[in-house]
Amino acid sequence: MSNEHQLSLFEESNFDQKELIPTDAKIPIPSGTYANITDLAQHCNNCHRCGLGDTRIHAVVGRGNLKAPIMIVGEAPGQNEDETGLPFVGKAGQLLDKILASVNLDTQEDVYICNINKCRPPDNRVPTTEEIAACKPYLLEQIRLVDPKIILLTGATAVKGLTGDKRGITKIRGEWMEWDGRLCMPIFHPSYLLRNPSREVGSPKWLMWQDIQAVRAKFDEIRNTKV
Ligand code: SF4
Repeated sequence: MSNEHQLSLFEESNFDQKELIPTDAKIPIPSGTYANITDLAQHCNNCHRCGLGDTRIHAVVGRGNLKAPIMIVGEAPGQNEDETGLPFVGKAGQLLDKILASVNLDTQEDVYICNINKCRPPDNRVPTTEEIAACKPYLLEQIRLVDPKIILLTGATAVKGLTGDKRGITKIRGEWMEWDGRLCMPIFHPSYLLRNPSREVGSPKWLMWQDIQAVRAKFDEIRNTKV
């Protein structure tokens, strides 16, 4: 068999394997599978790697700048997100946009926002370990394609889902950590801030204000080092 023939067989089998990705969580998603987010979104919208694919209206892939320096990762879509196909568009999303705007970060320019799971868990329950594992390779591809300098992880599920760190969010929020050579910071989920509206010193909102200022300072530092 000629080398060329062998190569063409290899490519064909890879193609078949790629087509099977949305059908079964056992099919791996090797790094480099997707050329762009549109390609990835097509798979997510047809995906049944976990049971959440059976009840979703829309897969919620992401919003913002596809080459943003800052990536924000949440847990999973809620009702508004499921209906619109966009992440963080309800009250929590509006608060997140305000938090970013308070330090002059533009959601269209500076940030790309997505979730650990692309489909809504029924009744907004926390996604299971299996559901997170099934969806995680999509997130890893998103991170590779967007290539952010900073990743903000909103809430304990996002931290655990990406890094495996199981510590409570109140313990680790505001701490810079390194994951896969990238700077990450756990922060409170904006819906937690909606349930805790106090702005007193030491309150969750006050702590978020400290954290987002630290993010802004790090963002400026990275940008100035590059110039
Ligand atoms: S949550 Fe992720 S793995 Fe599960 S069906 Fe949706 S896209 Fe697929």
